[in-house]
Amino acid sequence: MNVDPDMEDWLERLTREGIAPPLNNSRKMGILHSIFHEHGPVGTDEAAEILLDAMGRAVEALVTVSKDMSPHTRAMARITVGLDSGFPYLKYVDGWRHGDDLVFDSGDAGTLAQVADTVQEFLMEREHHVWPVCTAHHVGLHSQISGADAVWYCKTGGHVWRIGRLLTDQPDP
Ligand SMILES: [Zn+2]
Repeated sequence: MNVDPDMEDWLERLTREGIAPPLNNSRKMGILHSIFHEHGPVGTDEAAEILLDAMGRAVEALVTVSKDMSPHTRAMARITVGLDSGFPYLKYVDGWRHGDDLVFDSGDAGTLAQVADTVQEFLMEREHHVWPVCTAHHVGLHSQISGADAVWYCKTGGHVWRIGRLLTDQPDP
């Protein structure tokens, strides 16, 4: 990855001021890249605030995703948002963590689709629970972006639900 000199200066400053960018972690570097490109060479406090804001959005996404769960599923989905040197990620109640930090340069829909995907993987890996399932086809749904929305998609029937509306809306089409 090509790092421009302005960004290099900024990373050096963040390191001096205490937010050490883990240079060996390409996902975290990607996050710092998107902060730099969206906000410019912000100070440490502002960078920390941006990361905290991302954590807030991840929590909101988690609440939205949980609206698609039955009480039975919700009881299994013991998932919280954690911070790893300032970077938000999802973790299971036992501390188990799957994959990477959350990215957050893809807007609210991107965050929602990513959180939905991670929750689905947690439920599969930790509880062997297939969720969510298309009520018509009895197959697992997949989270993706459609236009400006994060949706659950049924590959078998082409059904689409907005994430957070699975239990309340009819599928589209
Ligand atoms: Zn279906």
